[in-house]
Amino acid sequence: MNLNEHIALVTGASRGIGRAICVDLAKNGANVVATARNPDTVAAWVEEYPDLKSRIHPIAMDVNQRESVEHGIEQTLQRFERLDVLVNNAGITRDMLLMSMEDELFDDVINTNLRGAFWSCRAAAKAMIRARRGRIINITSISGIMGNAGQANYAAAKAGMIGLTKSLAKEVGKRGVTVNAVAPGFIETDMTEALPEKLRESLKPHIPLQRFGKPEEIAAMVTFLASPAASYITGQVFQVDGGLLT
Ligand code: NDP
Repeated sequence: MNLNEHIALVTGASRGIGRAICVDLAKNGANVVATARNPDTVAAWVEEYPDLKSRIHPIAMDVNQRESVEHGIEQTLQRFERLDVLVNNAGITRDMLLMSMEDELFDDVINTNLRGAFWSCRAAAKAMIRARRGRIINITSISGIMGNAGQANYAAAKAGMIGLTKSLAKEVGKRGVTVNAVAPGFIETDMTEALPEKLRESLKPHIPLQRFGKPEEIAAMVTFLASPAASYITGQVFQVDGGLLT
């Protein structure tokens, strides 16, 4: 994929899928603004990629703070004069059966996963519309499509991201901006590492490919959607789930 001269911004770049997305975009030639609550975490892993170091730029961004999101996008526009690709990846889980779910657990997940993506979409879309080009890629989840017991908050937030994606795609298509979502299944990161080992093993037989995915397998889809090859694709949700939800 040729992303030379592209400027991309990724949220939640400290680890997991966000880190893999930054690496893959940079490998394909993009300059990547890798945002994290603590940008030192990004600076630490970037050391493992000396060839990509000059193309990965860590900055602070907390998607729970509107000023932080808007400032991060503004900083990017000031430094690079444009933003071609936005990847909304930052996300959390706070699993609990709905009957026992306190307001705080619901609000935390909606605010981080959905409102944060809304803020960055709004700020980035303004710049993209002005430039008459841009790609927005939202990382949702198959939970947002099929629902999941214990994840009413998370599934609602991820379903919300799908609605956000499809609505914004309809608003900005005529200005040359595409908006798509990627819905991972179970991926090997800290998020799924937190699940009990027994549960993780019991899930695998239900996945046609019989294994959890790797962060790089999500990153490959994101890079494709960011690339010129995906120029006629918008408003879509791409499942990358080993066939789990078919
Ligand atoms: P991890 O738990 O490994 O990483 C989550 C990332 O989000 C971290 O970088 C974390 O930063 C960041 N983050 C959390 N809160 C904030 C915040 N307020 N501001 C900025 N960054 C924040 O998860 P994954 O890498 O697995 O998940 C990445 C995305 O993929 C999420 O949106 C998740 O919902 C989605 N996904 C993951 C699946 C999986 O199986 N792993 C399946 C389906 C979807 P920090 O280090 O500071 O905590």
